[in-house]
Amino acid sequence: MAKDKLTKIILEEKDIPTSWYNITPDLPEPLPPLLHPGTQEPTILPPPLFPSTLNDQEFSKERFIEIPEEIQQIYKMWRPSPLIRAFRLEQALGTPAAIYYKYEGVSPAGSHKLNTAVAQAYYNKKAGMKRLATETGAGQWGSALSLGCQFFGLECKVYMVKVSYNQKPYRRIMMETWGATVIPSPSTETNIGKQILEKDPNSPGSLGIAISEAVEDAFGRDDTCYSLGSVLNHVILHQSVIGLETVKQLEKADVEADIVVGCVGGGSNFGGLAVPFVQKKMKGKKIQIIAVEPTACPSMTKGPLAWDYGDVAGMAPIAKMFTLGHTFIPSPIHAGGLRYHGMSPLVSHMHKLGLIEARAVDQKSTFESAIKFARTEGIIPAPEPAHAIKVVIDEALKCKESGEKKTIVLGLSGHGHFDLSAYEQFLAGRLEADTYSEEKVKQSLAELPKVKYAG
Ligand SMILES: *Cc1c(COP(=O)(O)O)cnc(C)c1O
Repeated sequence: MAKDKLTKIILEEKDIPTSWYNITPDLPEPLPPLLHPGTQEPTILPPPLFPSTLNDQEFSKERFIEIPEEIQQIYKMWRPSPLIRAFRLEQALGTPAAIYYKYEGVSPAGSHKLNTAVAQAYYNKKAGMKRLATETGAGQWGSALSLGCQFFGLECKVYMVKVSYNQKPYRRIMMETWGATVIPSPSTETNIGKQILEKDPNSPGSLGIAISEAVEDAFGRDDTCYSLGSVLNHVILHQSVIGLETVKQLEKADVEADIVVGCVGGGSNFGGLAVPFVQKKMKGKKIQIIAVEPTACPSMTKGPLAWDYGDVAGMAPIAKMFTLGHTFIPSPIHAGGLRYHGMSPLVSHMHKLGLIEARAVDQKSTFESAIKFARTEGIIPAPEPAHAIKVVIDEALKCKESGEKKTIVLGLSGHGHFDLSAYEQFLAGRLEADTYSEEKVKQSLAELPKVKYAG
């Protein structure tokens, strides 16, 4: 069989990368610093919140960072993840394009997030921590960190965005099964939670609010660090295993990617998949790398590149990123993992440099695409990567018109087995249209910090 006719491109255990790839030293322009929320001077990650090892990775100038043996051992439980040729989707679309998807739903937590959860739990354990506090949107990050903590004997406290807590009880049960404590955010357990509830007792919550609560929790205790499932450089670093494996798999199939597509919430699965391809692009390869976000929370397609706080309370460092303003609360779409007001500074920077592009798609066409994917390829995608599927289908249909035989690579970041109530609503024709208010964004952008830093 010709190599480019392979359906499932599987690597062996020995092919799992032994180092993560850090793209920052390869970028033509250095990444802007993080600024302290008080002094507005360049800062590291707040030391009481993160162990020094993760801080070092955040600002590392090393191109490759070795993956510790204990982490490699755990990765072997589900890695290398498969790269699968979507023959049946191609046929259904009648496209001459070749579509491959890198499937991260094979991890026990059901998404890519376990790649960094295991690494973060490991480094926190090494640093002597007993407990981690974190936030979760749709529940994928919370469940991944719960399992990561369980592997290394750490306690885990999860502040879960209230709208998801109510929509997705099974994620909470999953976290509790893996030993975590979960509460809906905004909660009455933190000062910021109480303040928000006073202003709006019916607040659906947001990732930004939940982050503030988890940060406040970790600040208050010596035995606790904070853990972030996306946005930061060290998270994208850990996720680079996705892209590194994909590159090897495409080589094995003897094909080259023309288009790489992933969904972006905070930017980690997309970033992890994209970085080796961005490196190829910087070396002159012609590759289109597309980040897909929801029209309900369009930080890169509608927001300015600006200095903004990472969280609602303004306790997190200030980062240069595409943002809708740290007080922006997007409508409660089902892709909870894509409801972050900003974008990873690294992904933002790559966008600014023209190395990647951004598109926004709405919830309804996202679910139509998810159904098409489920009925051809079988896998029921999470609502987040369904955004990327929509763009992959659009690109494949463009190839149908032009007759181009492009190779399209999709980052399928996780399965949607815990999102079936969203599918139920869609199938019953009850999926609410998502809304986006320019007025609300204008208001939240007016609250961007006034930053004088000009370095
Ligand atoms: C959390 C999540 C996302 C969004 O987060 P990123 O950091 O942008 O990757 C996307 N897909 C799945 C399955 C997720 O769990």
